[in-house]
Amino acid sequence: MKTLLIIATAGLMGFNSCKKDDNENNNVSAVSINTQEKLDLCFLREEEKLAHDVYVYAYNKYGVMIFNNISASEASHMSSVLNLLNKYSIIDPVNSNGPGVFVDTNLQQLYNDLILQVDVSLIKALEVGATIEDLDISDINTFYRNTSKSDLIQVYDALTCGSRNHIKAFTSQLTSQGVTYIPQYLTQSTYDSILALPHEQCGNGMRFRK
Ligand code: ZN
Ligand code: ZN
Repeated sequence: MKTLLIIATAGLMGFNSCKKDDNENNNVSAVSINTQEKLDLCFLREEEKLAHDVYVYAYNKYGVMIFNNISASEASHMSSVLNLLNKYSIIDPVNSNGPGVFVDTNLQQLYNDLILQVDVSLIKALEVGATIEDLDISDINTFYRNTSKSDLIQVYDALTCGSRNHIKAFTSQLTSQGVTYIPQYLTQSTYDSILALPHEQCGNGMRFRK
């Protein structure tokens, strides 16, 4: 029944790909999404995949549990974004792409660069983890400014909450190895204020679902 409804809705609206110029079809729809919101969701879906794939790679290489635990959390972040893509009939850029494969060329390049760092040492891999979370929070902070939709904001809240816990976890492992992480995307003061937070209970961003 649910599948039939989704198909019927998709048929009325037409599907959107992750491109700038195919948004005209659904401007009249009650659940329309603007081009920038669509681009942000498409990017975010792959950015969460990048985090997931890098952590799986690092876990396979070093067998350290933090990568296993956090990659599971990234899989749930990927699902939260996929729910939004489905809701707005946006074609999933991940589709059946395997580990380490990305449609966005910048994310593909970033993945390739980060994997090389992970290969260097466990400490480098932990720094890569902190850097991914640093970038995630910073990007989503930009995406907040592009939307007023409560369902998108709920997912952004859940994902940044998760990322704050993740960056703290990577930082604490680095600290125990005598390494100080320097934020690459967030300001030092924002990073410091995140470190000062207690561990947060994060929603999954799916409260909007019936
Ligand atoms: Zn995430
Ligand atoms: Zn994360």
